[in-house]
Amino acid sequence: MQPTSLYLHIPFCRHRCGYCDFNTYAGLDNLIPAYTDALIAEAEWLAAAAGERLPVHTIFLGGGTPSLLPLEGMQRLLQALHAAYDVAPEAEISLEANPGTLSPEYLAGLRAAGFNRISLGVQSASPHELLVLEREHDFSDVVNSVKWARQAGFENLNLDWIFGLPGQSLASWQRNLELAIGLAPEHLSLYALSIEHGTPFKELDTRGLLALPDGDAAAEMYELADSMLGGAGFVQYEISNWAKPGADGQPLACRHNLQYWRNLPYAGLGAGAHGFLAGHRTANVLAPAAYIKRMREAVQAGGPTAAQLPRTPATASAEPVDAHREMGETMMMGLRLVREGVSQAGFAERFGSTLEQAYGRSIRALQQRGLLETASGVLRLTQQGRLLGNQVFMEFV
Ligand code: SF4
Repeated sequence: MQPTSLYLHIPFCRHRCGYCDFNTYAGLDNLIPAYTDALIAEAEWLAAAAGERLPVHTIFLGGGTPSLLPLEGMQRLLQALHAAYDVAPEAEISLEANPGTLSPEYLAGLRAAGFNRISLGVQSASPHELLVLEREHDFSDVVNSVKWARQAGFENLNLDWIFGLPGQSLASWQRNLELAIGLAPEHLSLYALSIEHGTPFKELDTRGLLALPDGDAAAEMYELADSMLGGAGFVQYEISNWAKPGADGQPLACRHNLQYWRNLPYAGLGAGAHGFLAGHRTANVLAPAAYIKRMREAVQAGGPTAAQLPRTPATASAEPVDAHREMGETMMMGLRLVREGVSQAGFAERFGSTLEQAYGRSIRALQQRGLLETASGVLRLTQQGRLLGNQVFMEFV
């Protein structure tokens, strides 16, 4: 059976940052123990509903701030996953963490529990930019976290950074990149700030109070990142992701995210988590308290009956994905992989129709505009296409 991936959502943060639209809550830390129990119950429920032991090759704890969970909860969680699923011995097991929430003991405990990849939300090294973002750490927390993670034995570190911040100059972004490279991570994710509906940043922006760099300035920042990271030995493998080559010469990509970009199955566990499993896109109930209640009541009422995949008691919606939609999603996500792209042979094998039959006209139009290219049987974005990715993806929706 095709290996699957598990995403577990931890919807707690110490403070809600002004730009954030994730399903996360401040001030609900008292729910963490019951939430951990519910998460374990949902993982076990899904495993039982599958009717056979699902092979798992990546696990990702995202948030929110997963590093707010105490070590004891982390250990119980991973033990439960190993008991319920066939977790591959070489599985990638990642945790998102905020720099101000870590300690040497905690990181050593995570490593001993089985985590082998840490993704740190750095966002910026500038005190002013961190203040604007309402982040609660400073750059010295990042330096310490990286040092402690290395001491604990983590050999795979990602640092998340954001560019295009209010008031950010190209020189400031360059300084951020120099510091990012200086920390010698295996992996860097660089995201352009996006202003999301319903956030305090959106309101400030609407009132003209956010001095955002214009599109040209943001494009210049992206191009600067590409050239500086290339010069430092990083390989860009996705629109927003760069990695150092591993022992086999291939970039040390985030294997969990590759599962998304290749449009392969993953279970989404936890409040508000999304999944793509058994041919359905699933979404869980959003509120942590409602999530806990649903799982608790369902467990008290007895386990799942057979053949309920992909639903669990926490599922709020499960939409079937037909072949046409799956093809479009495969294009949209696969083209984000700027080296791997979408393989012509792989697409034909998966869908029984060629790229030309499915999207010939759109592809030719995008090639004429210089946004897509075909090389060695692979369709992928050009350098220009990386800057205008959204225009390309829209053609396949
Ligand atoms: S720490 Fe991350 S998940 Fe939490 S509120 Fe800030 S941006 Fe959102």
